[in-house]
Amino acid sequence: MNTIEVEIVTPERVVYRGDARIVVARGAEGDLGILPNHIPMVTPLKIAPILVKKHDGADDKIAVSGGMMEVRKDKVTILAESAELADEIDVNRATSAKERAERRLAESGREDIDFKRAQMSLQRALTRLDVAGK
Ligand code: ATP
Repeated sequence: MNTIEVEIVTPERVVYRGDARIVVARGAEGDLGILPNHIPMVTPLKIAPILVKKHDGADDKIAVSGGMMEVRKDKVTILAESAELADEIDVNRATSAKERAERRLAESGREDIDFKRAQMSLQRALTRLDVAGK
């Protein structure tokens, strides 16, 4: 079978390991669909869900807070600061983080370092809510 192995790891743990038909990830320059036998590459990732399309027709979605993706012919490795599976996500926590970030964005100026920080926090919260199906 034409398979590409996927591994998503954080400094704490292996969050996900599986076999895919295709892996969709948001790279610095846009969405990438990685098929088996892809040319080797390394790219930074945006804060976004990773979509793993499997042979049985089911999809897995994993919330990934940026990091790096290494693609080899038969394996995709994602190294992230944090990552969660859908059923690990605390929806209340992500909702509070989203509201907190939105308040900060409304309060701080665009050039502010806190603005950038709030934008990233918002993106993490939105990614988690998306993966949790909310
Ligand atoms: P918060 O403001 O709620 O702490 P955050 O985006 O600042 O959110 P991170 O720094 O990205 O949190 O993550 C810290 C740790 O908490 C990581 O291990 C991450 O997996 C976990 N985590 C963060 N938010 C959630 C959530 N909503 N559900 C489950 N785990 C979470």
